[in-house]
Amino acid sequence: MIPAAFEYERAESVDQAVQLLGEHEDAKLLAGGHSLLPLMRLRLARPSLLVDIDRLSDLEYVREAGDTIEIGALARMSDLATDQTLWKHCPLLAHVCGEVGDPQVRHRATIGGSVAHGDPASDPPTALLTLDAVLVVRGPSGERTVPAKSFFTSVFETDLGPQDVLTAVRVPKLASGTGWSYQKFHRRAIDWAIVGVAAVVERDDGHLKRAAVGLTNMGSTPLRASGVESALAGAEAAPQALAAAAEHAPEGTAPVSDTNASAEYRTELSKILVRRALEEALAR
Ligand SMILES: Cc1cc2nc3c(=O)[nH]c(=O)nc-3n(C[C@H](O)[C@H](O)[C@H](O)COP(=O)(O)OP(=O)(O)OC[C@H]3O[C@@H](n4cnc5c(N)ncnc54)[C@H](O)[C@@H]3O)c2cc1C
Repeated sequence: MIPAAFEYERAESVDQAVQLLGEHEDAKLLAGGHSLLPLMRLRLARPSLLVDIDRLSDLEYVREAGDTIEIGALARMSDLATDQTLWKHCPLLAHVCGEVGDPQVRHRATIGGSVAHGDPASDPPTALLTLDAVLVVRGPSGERTVPAKSFFTSVFETDLGPQDVLTAVRVPKLASGTGWSYQKFHRRAIDWAIVGVAAVVERDDGHLKRAAVGLTNMGSTPLRASGVESALAGAEAAPQALAAAAEHAPEGTAPVSDTNASAEYRTELSKILVRRALEEALAR
């Protein structure tokens, strides 16, 4: 279908993008366009103005900043999936970016667009939540930072205001020896996750010092599996302990039933994927 009529402006800077967003009602930013344009073609989104930030190349970077890795909002999934700095310090995120769609999608899709879109079926937001990332936002009142755990508020809804531009993502570097995994269950390689599970584990003398577990598509936002995390605190890094903890996966979740799977199926799947993710993370 052809989108409804809209105006188009190309922003030369983040500040200009913020200004343009404030001058028009229902204006929307355009980055890689791989989520917004399909919605416009279905007429589920009808922005009056598209503010194109896709060519703001100063937002396309990965750099080390002390204990964190900072990623510009316009970094493409394909670049992040092969970035050596990211693989060294945040391999979970590099791996997850390589799991998004297919090569064509990954060459256009940006990390900022994936996060700002707020789709609970998206993979990178779950990785960011699991890694305790912080999001950097520029708006009419200046710059602010928002922890990933308070950024995602509902389906396709985030903490972003109508004039806000997400400019960067900051991810703490993982300590060496930290295990990680992302288990994505989908029918075809290009599909979104029916359920996805991210895990990060730190060991200390045969016990789990830290375990973070995130869930994709198990509610209206990406979620932390807090029941699993509590069950794993200080637990032995042994198969029985992992299997017992995985049984807590559905706590606090509210999966939907759709054409891919029922809520009950997702609930059972989440337990299996949590166990597999923990096993793989501990084997790394
Ligand atoms: C065929 C196909 C398969 C896909 N498969 C997957 C998959 O398996 N897993 C997955 O996670 N995703 C998948 N995606 C989604 C893909 O990753 C999206 O492109 C991405 O989520 C959005 O990034 P974008 O740069 O294209 O954003 P756009 O489509 O340009 O924008 C998306 C939304 O974010 C807003 N926005 C964009 N950038 C910013 C910013 N910097 N600040 C504030 N707001 C902003 C826009 O206004 C819009 O509302 C798939 C997409 C397609 C088309």
